[in-house]
Amino acid sequence: MRIGILGGGQLARMLALEGIPLGHRFTVLERAPDPPAGVASTVVAAAYDDPDGLAAVARASEVVTYEFENVPAESAAFLAARLPALPPPGALQVAQDRLAEKRVFRELGIATAPFHPVDGPADVEEAVAVTGVPAVIKTRRLGYDGKGQVVVRSPGEAEAAVERLGAGLIAERFVAFDRELSVLAVAGRDGGRAFYPLTENHHEGGILRVSYAPAPSLVPPRASEPAPSSVPSPDRTPSLQATAERLASLVLDRLDYVGVLAIELFEHQGRLLANEMAPRVHNSGHWTLDGADVSQFENHIRAVTGMPLAAPRVRGPTAMVNIIGELPNLGAVAAIPGAHLHIYDKTPRPGRKIGHINVTGSDEAAVKHATARVWKLLPGAGELPRAARG
Ligand code: AMP
Repeated sequence: MRIGILGGGQLARMLALEGIPLGHRFTVLERAPDPPAGVASTVVAAAYDDPDGLAAVARASEVVTYEFENVPAESAAFLAARLPALPPPGALQVAQDRLAEKRVFRELGIATAPFHPVDGPADVEEAVAVTGVPAVIKTRRLGYDGKGQVVVRSPGEAEAAVERLGAGLIAERFVAFDRELSVLAVAGRDGGRAFYPLTENHHEGGILRVSYAPAPSLVPPRASEPAPSSVPSPDRTPSLQATAERLASLVLDRLDYVGVLAIELFEHQGRLLANEMAPRVHNSGHWTLDGADVSQFENHIRAVTGMPLAAPRVRGPTAMVNIIGELPNLGAVAAIPGAHLHIYDKTPRPGRKIGHINVTGSDEAAVKHATARVWKLLPGAGELPRAARG
């Protein structure tokens, strides 16, 4: 099939690289010159709201999808009037607005941190009465990688933050979470569903640094291994997985969703709280390129083209390390058994994601060991964020 993608960055690149073996061809709409997806697609060089550019992508494609959620509503509507645009524009609209997505979670009975809209200093008192302090004040739109958000410890700090950030904000209770998790769910055009195991994510400065998948306590002990103790200790992660799949299913249903949907979660005292959703393939699913037999990228392509989804089988414990700002010595990384390079062909710049390394191994200890070696090769890397267990 001929597939159009809005955006030509690393997500579009990996979608195309995984979709080409299935027999598809790709056209991306991307204004930046020489985009990462250009190696595997035809590039229409125009802005996301350029009618000629959108029309060119529509002409070249039988279905169109996105690599980012902030597609202008008019662009999504323009495309949806001409060809299947998936995930549906309504899902994009919800995911573009932190307040709208939190309201959808609440309407579906999915737990979140208490939240309240804030449109100016006059709303702070009421908001703080709902959230308490500390709280996080976030812009409702266009915030990413921790940008446009402030943690406040008093109503006075909240007011100052609101004055600085302006209108169109949301206040949320600050959650002292045990860990951050995400679930990747896939819905097919044929109604099929697939889920990846919960992934444990570690951020620094608002940017994802390392993911561990399946989230460590999900890995059941091997049958041949003796039980760690004679007293059975309830492993709560399997039930978290069931909960995550249930809540993701509710969202997929509510949004008439097709494609990969990522939901970011906080694990807090054994409960899952939904933080936000991304209507696209997601950085916390990059491990699936090497750690599962079918990647999130392939399943997204299967979903939007109407192919049956593949129930992903996990190959083993996997870590994903983002390469941010500067490349490591690639030969040295490649020399580490189990390290798989994924370089995006982007100009290095501080804070920019320019690649990732998936680390696989026969067991958690091997993955941990290799991940520590990979981490040491990253320029300027501090301490390796350790998995919450193991
Ligand atoms: P977000 O852009 O909402 O994904 O937020 C970026 C990061 O900020 C999250 O991954 C968390 O580490 C942190 N964060 C966001 N919201 C909260 C919250 N309500 N409580 C505690 N930490 C948060």
